[in-house]
Amino acid sequence: MADLMGTKDYENGLNFLEELTENGHRIQEQVLEEILLRNAGTEYLTRFLHGQTDKQLFKNNVPIVTYEDIKPYIDRIANGETSNILLADPISEFIQSSGTSGGQPKLIPMTAENFEKKTLELTLVDPVVKKYFDGLEKGKTMSLFFVKKGSETPSGLTVRTLTSCYFMSDSFKKSAPKICTSPIETILCLDHKQSMYCQLLTGLLQRDHVVSISSIFGSVLARSIKFLEDHWNELCSNIRTGCLSDWITDPGCRNAVSSILTRPNPELADTIEQICGNESWEGIIKKLWPKAKYINSVITGTMSQYISLLDFYGGGIPLVSPSYGSSESTFGINLNPLSNPYDVSYTFLPNMAYFEFLPVDKDGEEKARESNLDGVSSQWSSEMTNANGNVEPVDSANVKLGQYYEVVVTTFAGLYRYRVGDVLKLTGFHNNSPQFQFVERRNTVLSIDMDKTSEEDLLKAIGNAKRHLEPLGFVLMTFSSYAETSSIPGRYVLFWELKFKERNRWLKLDAKIMEECCSIVEESLDFTYKSLREANKIAALEVRVVKHGTFDALMDFYVSKGASINQYKTPSCIKSEEAVKVLNSGVLEKFFSPKTFFLS
Ligand code: AMP
Repeated sequence: MADLMGTKDYENGLNFLEELTENGHRIQEQVLEEILLRNAGTEYLTRFLHGQTDKQLFKNNVPIVTYEDIKPYIDRIANGETSNILLADPISEFIQSSGTSGGQPKLIPMTAENFEKKTLELTLVDPVVKKYFDGLEKGKTMSLFFVKKGSETPSGLTVRTLTSCYFMSDSFKKSAPKICTSPIETILCLDHKQSMYCQLLTGLLQRDHVVSISSIFGSVLARSIKFLEDHWNELCSNIRTGCLSDWITDPGCRNAVSSILTRPNPELADTIEQICGNESWEGIIKKLWPKAKYINSVITGTMSQYISLLDFYGGGIPLVSPSYGSSESTFGINLNPLSNPYDVSYTFLPNMAYFEFLPVDKDGEEKARESNLDGVSSQWSSEMTNANGNVEPVDSANVKLGQYYEVVVTTFAGLYRYRVGDVLKLTGFHNNSPQFQFVERRNTVLSIDMDKTSEEDLLKAIGNAKRHLEPLGFVLMTFSSYAETSSIPGRYVLFWELKFKERNRWLKLDAKIMEECCSIVEESLDFTYKSLREANKIAALEVRVVKHGTFDALMDFYVSKGASINQYKTPSCIKSEEAVKVLNSGVLEKFFSPKTFFLS
């Protein structure tokens, strides 16, 4: 988010962050006390605490749960029972998370107070960024923000995505004209194509004022640049004539754009045409918005697949991944905006919720628990396990450097010891607050036979292969994968959307090089994978190159199923047959790893 604060607020913001992180442990204890004081009497907590508010009792008795465990309570509230069966404060609405549970979106309770906490996170990011980039207050953010149509529960409670809730809030509507080049009407337009077109148009019209470029996730920015590639001629024609295209029919958009597109501007149209007409789009963002000092988008986790593409388009503008949060809670912010995008850590904010950390192995938590359940000796030291040998979560005062954890959250809004599903690695501390790198979503694994390939390992392996392609002028725009098990042995299939650095040119893919890429991916995978390949229990890895726009179609598919564009994360591993069909319909060429022997 761009400038929401004046100088005084800026200093106050930084001081507040120091205070928060210095007193992290104490604040965490206070947060838990407060949550228990308010909510111990709810039906849910009474089952475990019998009305008591003791913190140790909470840790001993309240189970660690997933969404499925609390869903019966959520369903009861959605169907009209009072929300105090789960939390004392009234629910203002439900937040629809992008995560799905058995195909159904998750509904996360929201209260007015919790919403304010989430807004606070955004205002805390501002002073941190301002410390590193001068003059932000003199310009605006060229934003690419979207909202999604909400719905209602049978009991009449509103259901919206978190970002829709934020962009529709009075505070955002009030600040948007000062901070964004996109008029609020273009952000709130439910037709994403019209919305994107108008946001790009108004961003181009105000290009001299743009000091940063912002989308929630990197994937949206990547998609918007592609959209620009398809529409720049038309955008320039609108700028040249001063008339907005007829297909923009949304009255809010038309009205708002007309207050910025006030006259024909052939000089600006010429400049943009010249830039966009260039053979190469390398550095296009810097050329179109020359005063942009940074790009503000989450580019960690699954989004890291967009780093090289955004670097290519950005032409050296730093990529800043501002914060880490979810519909359930805000977790942390990036205090070091200039850190290498592949190395971003988020400092946890102790006032947002009560956090516990479940020690897991690199591939997620299940292994530890399963091994305990099977009675096989655990790899965890005894200090992490309870009397039954189960792995126990630790609080923020007891996390250990280098250890992997799954974050477990207790919020003011009805989640108690709730597993978020994200695997994190502790990389350091800021004062007393832990800093984590996002590793992956639990269960985003490709699996065949005994092999489980995690999202993190897949991202690394593909990273190694794509370095091989870049000198040839190709950029890997985006990828996904699935385990193809209709034949035996099964194989991992990767879908790649490639782009040639020079526009309007496409060199034929060299089969030998593509096969080498397949081999590099296989060689980068772990011992189990290679052993199974050697034993012919997994067949040769396959790369399917898809045509331009196939991943847009995938995003459209998920959006049609209820995902929000803002919060959409390209799945690095696909389980839905329908989604695989979408990608298969765009396949241009297929390549297989020629490698047959791995372990020598
Ligand atoms: P949602 O439930 O739609 O709000 O999505 C939240 C999820 O998005 C988190 O649980 C993470 O898996 C992912 N996410 C959010 N912020 C980040 C981040 N900074 N880096 C990586 N993944 C993130």
